[in-house]
Amino acid sequence: MPPTLRQLAAQIMQQAGWDLPAPPILWSPRLSRCAGLFVVERKPGRPPQPEIRLSIPLLRRRDRPWPVQACGCLCRDPESLTRRILEHELIHYKLWKEGAKDWGHTEAFRLLAWQAFQHQSITHGIGSDDEL
Ligand SMILES: [Zn+2]
Repeated sequence: MPPTLRQLAAQIMQQAGWDLPAPPILWSPRLSRCAGLFVVERKPGRPPQPEIRLSIPLLRRRDRPWPVQACGCLCRDPESLTRRILEHELIHYKLWKEGAKDWGHTEAFRLLAWQAFQHQSITHGIGSDDEL
């Protein structure tokens, strides 16, 4: 059995030395604008709920001209591509969890992406598909 997304996220954070619980992560059939997304759901009277969404149309495709780039790293299969995108979204989650006012692509984000995962670029895209 391959690990679930949440197990994979827990593993990634443990390897990075982050002592955080894995957030809910789901596969989205509708997300196609970007490979991954970190969102915080706010409902009245409830604590904010973080969630990571991963794109089925972009990440489950096997018929790409492999390798492809994500986060400035070469990925040779859908599994490593998904891992890279998840690493990126987990950085947003970590910044949010630690109370950052801006958990977007800030200088702190860039530094963490490099130190924890050696990401060379900060995008939500795959290959040259996009410039998000
Ligand atoms: Zn991002």
